[in-house]
Amino acid sequence: MAPSPMLEFAFFEGRIVPFAEAKVSVGTHALQYGTGAFAGIRGYLDDDGETINVFRLPDHAARLLNSAKLLRAELPFDRDSLAATIVSVIAANDPSGDCYVRPFVYKSSVQLTPRLRNLDDELAIYMLSLGDYLDTDRGVKAVVSSWVRVSDNAIPGRGKLSGAYVNSALAKDEAEEKGADEAILLDASGHVAEGSGCNLFVVRDGILTTAPTTGDILEGITRRSFLRFAADEGIPTAERQIDRSELYLAEEAFFCGTGVQVAPIASIDGRPVGDGEPGPITSRLRGLFFDCVRGRSDRYAEMVTPVRRRVAAAAG
Ligand code: PMP
Repeated sequence: MAPSPMLEFAFFEGRIVPFAEAKVSVGTHALQYGTGAFAGIRGYLDDDGETINVFRLPDHAARLLNSAKLLRAELPFDRDSLAATIVSVIAANDPSGDCYVRPFVYKSSVQLTPRLRNLDDELAIYMLSLGDYLDTDRGVKAVVSSWVRVSDNAIPGRGKLSGAYVNSALAKDEAEEKGADEAILLDASGHVAEGSGCNLFVVRDGILTTAPTTGDILEGITRRSFLRFAADEGIPTAERQIDRSELYLAEEAFFCGTGVQVAPIASIDGRPVGDGEPGPITSRLRGLFFDCVRGRSDRYAEMVTPVRRRVAAAAG
């Protein structure tokens, strides 16, 4: 078995404990009914080797609190204290390389009724080391899923709600079983929504285009960052409904998200995107993203929260 990528310490029931001790009952409401919400945050080793740059930490904390609000969860945290708690877990683990942080808000009561009110809520945070989740260089294969993206009136996809990820899992399995790397889910009206765990951009007539946040997508933080990079570079952008057939006409397409980072799409349903190679807009934006997270960009320095590694602190 491969060595566990889990890092040693987790936050559980109000304190930092060894990861192995962060355990819940099998009867936990969130485990039974998916009444949890989570965040996924990446920390990158800065080029200086001494700092972990946490990408858009306050935004992730704010979105998790919004997801928690959808679940009517009551937690003793505001955005800043939640962000500080996440930093304390990173500091306790003192990762030596790129890592992923998974904060999780969940209905912790052992209770049989699927409801949101009058249940206890808890926050847990754990971490793992994580490299690339999808290829970020060559281009991945995508297929349009036969599974429809869960709609706002079913389970709101704008929150990162645990139960909704059964929808992602169905689509991901189907894509992989068809020999692809990732699924593209359409919404109930047949418009392009997003990937199973990432947002999607296409370039049409030079315009960087993505589904609107009212289109049954997660309000992705990487997506928002890429819209900003593009605007700063003078690349025109549009947030609008995208037809399925536009996927086949796009000059470029890529997935983006915390896990995925940025994954150029080489083909969709077996049809090459552009010439099948990462296009110029994708490559330019990918460069800006990695410069930002590796600490090479003054312009986007405010997008990362630096956490000093212990080895650096010891050296003064
Ligand atoms: N959509 C879905 C369904 C996701 O799970 C993710 C990953 N969190 C994203 C989009 C990308 O969001 P973000 O950039 O905030 O990680």
